[in-house]
Amino acid sequence: MQYRLSPEDAAFVEEVASFITAELDPAMARRVKFGEPVPKAYLDEWTRTLNRKGWAAPNWPIEYGGTGWNMLRRHLFDQAMRVHHAPQTEGFGFNMVGPAIIKYGSEAQKAHYLPKILNQDMNWCQGYSEPGAGSDLASVSTRAVLDGDQYVVNGSKIWTSRAEVADHIFLLVRTNPDAKKQLGITFLLMDMNQPGVEVKPLLAFNGARLWNQVFFENARVPKENCLGGENQGWSVAKSLLGDERLLVSRVGENQRICRRLLELLAEPPITLAGDGAWTKRLAETRIRLEALEASALRLLTKFDQGGAIGAEPSMLKLQGSQLVQAFDTLLMGLIGEYALPENRFQREAGATPICHESIDMIASGRYHHRGFTLAGGTSEIQHDIIAKSVLGL
Ligand SMILES: Cc1cc2nc3c(=O)[nH]c(=O)nc-3n(C[C@H](O)[C@H](O)[C@H](O)COP(=O)(O)OP(=O)(O)OC[C@H]3O[C@@H](n4cnc5c(N)ncnc54)[C@H](O)[C@@H]3O)c2cc1C
Repeated sequence: MQYRLSPEDAAFVEEVASFITAELDPAMARRVKFGEPVPKAYLDEWTRTLNRKGWAAPNWPIEYGGTGWNMLRRHLFDQAMRVHHAPQTEGFGFNMVGPAIIKYGSEAQKAHYLPKILNQDMNWCQGYSEPGAGSDLASVSTRAVLDGDQYVVNGSKIWTSRAEVADHIFLLVRTNPDAKKQLGITFLLMDMNQPGVEVKPLLAFNGARLWNQVFFENARVPKENCLGGENQGWSVAKSLLGDERLLVSRVGENQRICRRLLELLAEPPITLAGDGAWTKRLAETRIRLEALEASALRLLTKFDQGGAIGAEPSMLKLQGSQLVQAFDTLLMGLIGEYALPENRFQREAGATPICHESIDMIASGRYHHRGFTLAGGTSEIQHDIIAKSVLGL
């Protein structure tokens, strides 16, 4: 089955592409293209540019400064941003805590936090995982005890991405250790700029600071920064991703990587034309990407039309992450021995058939994308969900 965009949706994709071409600094697009970090100052500027256009929060209702777009429009917007190498806005604020505040927050919380997220005046990180609580998230043991009108927090969170640049963290904490584990959890919004919070780096094997462990020692959170009510945090945690769980297919990211691969193939002297096995795998992988896009579009349209959603997001998450890794393997086949660390000097001296930025991007991307198997719910957990709800096992 082929999915065709309506003329209005096709025009929307054109409009987004023209906006990006007009507004995005080409030097920053190049950084994104080669997997290099975008300076925070530019990310702030880009977010504010989107905000002026009314596009910073595609997933928020119009009344809170969002776009009010349906899922399909959101998907098309995300896809256009990816394939044109626009930097991604800060997801913890826009995609996670922002929607949670819209759904569960008091009017005072909405008025305080939402405009600051929209204007990138507040930077968030996610304090869910702990050394003893990952897939089994309801086992969190970071403790919060009410002392007057403040919670006192002790414990630690791990794998906390971007904690080194964040000023706020949303936390799952245990407030009732005697209740059934899901019933004793509270969701807190914490200002990290205080003496009881310490952020320590966790380095990936290449030395990059990908995560952090965050320690709390008698850190304080005003009672009014509890979201959704004391001991009600599990409901907030579960719904935090909200509709975002439908946008897990990584179609845009896969298309971006696929385009890059095709560009590299077109650059002489790279040619794998004689390698039948490799080109067959490339063809198969591109067909899987077409199938993934069609499945994602069908799911989003079904949701927009009020259809019931079951285990489809788990299938898309699995397929999307595995597909990125399949493209990575193809790319590694393209650069072969030049990816080896000992060839670094040769790369930097330009004595390789592909530019060294591309080689670095491919080599580091391959390892970085392994994390997609874990982040946002591991592949085994997705298999469990599919086994239970589709196969009835
Ligand atoms: C790139 C990246 C960024 C991350 N960023 C953040 C962040 O910002 N904030 C945050 O809070 N966390 C973050 N995480 C942590 C992530 O949410 C956890 O890694 C994930 O939930 C898995 O938990 P775990 O690492 O403790 O593994 P575990 O849950 O201990 O799992 C270990 C292994 O056992 C398997 N397993 C576990 N339970 C089952 C089961 N019931 N059935 C079958 N197999 C099972 C898992 O699939 C996995 O292979 C990040 C992770 C990655 C990779």
